[in-house]
Amino acid sequence: MAANPRYANGAARVKLRNRLKAEGRGCWICRAFGRPDAIDYSLPARHPMAFEVDELVPVSKGGSPVDYANVDAAHRACNNWRGNRSVAQVLALARGERARKRDATSRKW
Ligand SMILES: [Zn+2]
Repeated sequence: MAANPRYANGAARVKLRNRLKAEGRGCWICRAFGRPDAIDYSLPARHPMAFEVDELVPVSKGGSPVDYANVDAAHRACNNWRGNRSVAQVLALARGERARKRDATSRKW
């Protein structure tokens, strides 16, 4: 039976979660967009601002769910928003949004 690798590696996954938590990692997606990135690690798992382990290369695209180099911390809501976007797509959107904000504030009508 083909097991979902995300759950097949339960112990390794827990270790990885704990490692990111111990580092007090902020949300990489909020950071990309220039928003406050702090994660309150005490929030319940179903809270939109709760901590989730986000695979940079998604498991569905061959990324490892237990490789420290392939994961970062994200808010649950940000992770949901990201969906199937690649890291490059997220960064491109963030650059676009930041450029628009810069233009909006530098323009004096
Ligand atoms: Zn976030």
